[in-house]
Amino acid sequence: NYSPSRMSFNYGGGKTGRVPVGIGPRRLRIVVTGGAGFVGSHLVDKLIGRGDEVIVIDNFFTGRKENLVHLFSNPRFELIRHDVVEPILLEVDQIYHLACPASPTNVMGTLNMLGLAKRVGARFLLTSTSEVYGDPLEHPQKETYWGNVNPIGERSCYDEGKRTAETLAMDYHRGAGVEVRIARIFNTYGPRMCLDDGRVVSNFVAQTIRKHPMTVYGDGKQTRSFQYVSDLVDGLVALMENDHVGPFNLGNPGEFTMLELAEVVKEVIDTSATIEFKPNTADDPHKRKPDISKAKELLNWEPKISLRDGLPRMVSDFRNRISNEDEGKGL
Ligand code: NAD
Ligand code: UDP
Ligand code: UDP
Repeated sequence: NYSPSRMSFNYGGGKTGRVPVGIGPRRLRIVVTGGAGFVGSHLVDKLIGRGDEVIVIDNFFTGRKENLVHLFSNPRFELIRHDVVEPILLEVDQIYHLACPASPTNVMGTLNMLGLAKRVGARFLLTSTSEVYGDPLEHPQKETYWGNVNPIGERSCYDEGKRTAETLAMDYHRGAGVEVRIARIFNTYGPRMCLDDGRVVSNFVAQTIRKHPMTVYGDGKQTRSFQYVSDLVDGLVALMENDHVGPFNLGNPGEFTMLELAEVVKEVIDTSATIEFKPNTADDPHKRKPDISKAKELLNWEPKISLRDGLPRMVSDFRNRISNEDEGKGL
């Protein structure tokens, strides 16, 4: 059974300054892989904020030290530059596994983190994705839906990598008794999002700030559901702290076409913004919207921030980074 306190003394808890049980509130030691990234850095802020010790493992593939620089002087924070594809030995209570650009990382990195969780008895949370549903034939998607993924398509490296990661997590849960938690995350946005990884919200917001037209792919009638990052972080922590393995959909059920999203960006960021149409990529899911009744019922979680309220909260961060980039280029 889950008993983080058993870790305190077995692994030199005293040396790390953890407060013994019975004397005061106990700190957890928590690993966040991918903690220098968009979602990870917000999660780390929350965990540090509530008093835990956090070790970030990140190879800076897409993450940035700037996302964590405000924590560097905090004695409860550690940053390890490491590729999760390689094994690592640590002594921890919980593992939030977010590191991931593509399939090899998903599979090998997840295996290593599960091996670590098994060795030290840590609870392990996998950040899976709504992409496991592929181009869904069921709408909205419930956790019971098995998905419609093209195994040889352009997107399959990510989708199938996450599906394999879920399989590995469940195997370690059933076979080795690892306490596993699986989150299926739907499209998430907010400050610190990568400026240039091609996601639709970051593209539209950056394009609008730069006074470029927003690029709408295809006819723009495909739909997505967009969740603000603090809602996701609350959901991840609620899942980690709860008794249910999952999988749980974590997303905002508000559903928008890309044309509607462009309209909202225009409304809340710059009313003079324009759009241009571009050809779409193959296998682009036509619609996606989470059914979150399971998370509502069992985790008592639901998102609080609507798209109209969330978008303005990312603008100043985007403006700052874009103007720093421009200065860097001597513009
Ligand atoms: P991100 O790219 O900002 O963060 C990923 C982090 O992992 C980065 O800091 C990167 O440097 C690190 N990383 C990548 N490969 C690594 C490796 N081999 N070893 C160590 N570190 C490595 O992405 P994000 O949006 O913050 O996503 C975090 C997690 O949530 C991912 O697992 C992603 O699949 C999942 N997710 C995100 C969304 C979303 O909309 N943001 C949706 C579904 C699922
Ligand atoms: N692993 C790790 N840190 C640990 C324990 C395991 O990185 O503290 C890695 C280990 O190197 C292996 C993977 O996790 O590649 C799976 O470990 P497990 O013990 O489940 O499998 P085995 O090593 O027995 O094949
Ligand atoms: N998209 C778009 N313009 C862009 C980037 C993306 O119209 O500049 C569309 C894309 O075709 C997809 C949707 O926005 O239908 C969401 O794309 P994203 O890559 O953000 O997320 P995912 O497809 O992984 O859900």
